[in-house]
Amino acid sequence: MKTRDRLRIAMQKSGRLTEPALNLLNRCGLSFRQSRDKLFCFGEGEPVDLLLVRDDDIPGLIAQGVCDLGIVGRNVLNEFQLSQSGLDAEPLQELRPLGFGRCRLSIAVPNELDYQGPRQLEGRRIATSYPGLLGEWLRSHGVNAGVVTLAGSVEIAPKLGTADAICDLVQSGGTLVANQLREADILLESQAVLAGSLALPADERGDMLELLLKRLDGVIQVRESRLLLLQTSRAALEAVTRLLPGGPQPTLLPVLGQPDQLMLQALCAGEVSWRQLEEIKKAGAREMLVLPVEKMLA
Ligand code: ATP
Ligand code: ZN
Repeated sequence: MKTRDRLRIAMQKSGRLTEPALNLLNRCGLSFRQSRDKLFCFGEGEPVDLLLVRDDDIPGLIAQGVCDLGIVGRNVLNEFQLSQSGLDAEPLQELRPLGFGRCRLSIAVPNELDYQGPRQLEGRRIATSYPGLLGEWLRSHGVNAGVVTLAGSVEIAPKLGTADAICDLVQSGGTLVANQLREADILLESQAVLAGSLALPADERGDMLELLLKRLDGVIQVRESRLLLLQTSRAALEAVTRLLPGGPQPTLLPVLGQPDQLMLQALCAGEVSWRQLEEIKKAGAREMLVLPVEKMLA
């Protein structure tokens, strides 16, 4: 393979991951000459170029050394890794989860099937575009089922009678509902990831990669941070504090005219869900606010 002095990242040309991936790279200080209709985008400031391809081709391009990195769904990366295992190919690794393109690879069954667990799939036919991941999951549960591999429109297979259940990506579940299916089991929690070869380049590209990873970490940390503000009584403080998501020690402020009340301010390392908020409220908090963090300088 001819050596390159510029880092090359493969990403989806047009699809769910395209905008968020470009956005993330921009926030890492990378910009590209506008040639989105082309295969290749030349990086302007830093020595980093883009290759715009179908998402399914991304792991292969990294494994072949055509690209150094790729932004791709964990589902696609893991399926590729399983298809390559046993072959004498360059192994890939997940370098960073990127926090967008979240979905689940799930088993979905017709509404009328009373699903009690993987055993129920014994002897049935399951349609999927992920035969590797499904096969591995079935094996791990000791289930023998027929795997029907389809490239797309997996969700209509039960209606057509070509499968009894499906194994497909689910985000909101809308597609399942429209096809009288329901999510029964989760095989994989997926999101977009930065993938790279296990053997990272040891030349200038390696230095650029290190810089890019540092910037990515900074961007991701800020993006996922939330500032949580709430009021609590002193009596409930301990119970409330115990439920706070991870992060540095919270700050406590007095509330004017209410000596038994405190205002608590906590920086949270990840998103704060409705569930978590409801739990914290049950422990005695009120007036809760969750704010996004724009910039952070420790
Ligand atoms: P391509 O033309 O690049 O092959 P595609 O149709 O395979 O496109 P998209 O539908 O754009 O790909 O999905 C890309 C990735 O987005 C998926 O591999 C998955 O990781 C993620 N994703 C998130 N939510 C969903 C969803 N509801 N359905 C499918 N993929 C989803
Ligand atoms: Zn695809």
